[in-house]
Amino acid sequence: MEVRGHYLNNSAVAGTSARVAALFDPATGAQHASVALADAADAARAVHAAAQAWPAWAALTPLARARILFRFRELMLAHLDELAGIISLEHGKVFADARAEIQRGLEVVEFACGIPHLLKGEHSLGVGSNIDSYTLHQSLGVCVGISPFNFPVMVPLWMFPIALACGNTFIMKPSELDPSASLFMADLLRQAGAPPGVFNVLNGDRATVEALIADTRVQAVSFVGSTPVAESVYRLAAQRGIRAQALGGAKNHLLVMPDADLAQVTTALLGAAYGSAGERCMAISVAVCVDDASADALVQSLRKGIAALTVGPGMQQQPEPQMGPLVSQAHAAKVRAYIDGGVDDGATLVCDGRGFVCKGHEHGYFIGPTLFDHVTPGMRIYREEIFGPVLCIVRARNYDDALALINAHEFGNGTAIFTRNGRAARRFCEAVQAGMVGVNVPIPVPMAFHSFGGWKRSLFGPLHMHGPEGVRFFTRLKTITARWHESEAGGAGFAMPVLK
Ligand code: NAD
Repeated sequence: MEVRGHYLNNSAVAGTSARVAALFDPATGAQHASVALADAADAARAVHAAAQAWPAWAALTPLARARILFRFRELMLAHLDELAGIISLEHGKVFADARAEIQRGLEVVEFACGIPHLLKGEHSLGVGSNIDSYTLHQSLGVCVGISPFNFPVMVPLWMFPIALACGNTFIMKPSELDPSASLFMADLLRQAGAPPGVFNVLNGDRATVEALIADTRVQAVSFVGSTPVAESVYRLAAQRGIRAQALGGAKNHLLVMPDADLAQVTTALLGAAYGSAGERCMAISVAVCVDDASADALVQSLRKGIAALTVGPGMQQQPEPQMGPLVSQAHAAKVRAYIDGGVDDGATLVCDGRGFVCKGHEHGYFIGPTLFDHVTPGMRIYREEIFGPVLCIVRARNYDDALALINAHEFGNGTAIFTRNGRAARRFCEAVQAGMVGVNVPIPVPMAFHSFGGWKRSLFGPLHMHGPEGVRFFTRLKTITARWHESEAGGAGFAMPVLK
């Protein structure tokens, strides 16, 4: 069975560690390859490659770096279907969704192509006598990215195009469940003209991540994954005194106001809760209704919609299913256990996906769309992130009650309100504690030229991903104060200089 290795200095390499993890096709449950899990020696080799490449890469003009990203974008588009197939094989998501993930990621590449504009500093003429002051945004050096399984292309693209455009070199550590897309992108970057060592892929797990962060040549860590790991990565980076942005888990609520259009809410919820089998950090996993009548109507409407949903292998073409399997057997078992727990805790199971069997794919990791009603805040299915095709309906007493519920939750990634009342929407946007808010938009993922990030325990660190905040993250500021004397007159100064 093939073992996928690493990609260092523009070449595929095997690495020295003997540790490997099996790679499975979630639609069939069959192993199709293995992936190497790097040890500390492999990590040191990757950091060496990136550190060697940094001075020359940082010295290139911003435009020269951007032109490589322009070519990378063209190559990504030319290979879009091939890459979507790789995502679907290892992650399980349906082909159209895999293509869409790549397109959303490419928006970040397009943004990064314009980064020369954002690297400009500020200049103040004559802050003192013959003195000017100006700022530089300089690269950091070797940066590391660690990504989760659920967006094997889009999440790495949130990170490395920005880092590279800003003059850093990069080591990508993708999820060990679906690493092949990162290897594929690394080769496209080589074809686009990235010099050896500028972009590297190191495969591995926790030990690999810890070895990378411990290396004193690493200057920044960009992480996306679950909250406990995000917190641990943030702590490790802080112990070393380097910057980190660590995006964690979520429990995104959609607030349904009584005046919302039922058909619109239903369609929005079906896509947002069950798209990609609920394995999205911006998936809606809780719908909060503020009166019983609209909750009853919504449950009936969702039940009908769920009955019509199609579930099947991600690569199936005619007809293409709307939802694929979960990523792994272990994850499917975890989601099933949450559904069992919801029943034990007394929630009303309206649609039960546990018994779903995909004909011809009986060993695939499928769970059908699941709907709970009468979920209460004390239940585990409400408190914890399930990360599967499970939607919970919570019945609040009124708007204030619903808002308080959302704001009390541990996570604050995304949220949405559905209403026809502009004043209610405006109040919600201002008062809700979440990083990304949708008004009649269920999954408000910001465009690449805005920044992406949550609040509370959905993000550790001050800066969001991509957009202007991404550029700030991947650059450091230097302020120059310069005087050009006309003569060397004047003695030494022993008091703090005060500019007049
Ligand atoms: P995960 O936390 O298990 O793994 C993420 C990455 O961290 C992987 O590359 C993995 O190899 C590595 N890792 C795992 N354990 C580690 C440890 N102890 N120390 C260091 N590194 C470790 O997450 P996952 O299951 O791959 O992804 C799903 C999670 O990611 C969900 O919680 C989801 O909400 C979250 N996510 C968040 C966002 C966001 O923008 N906030 C986006 C996508 C996914």
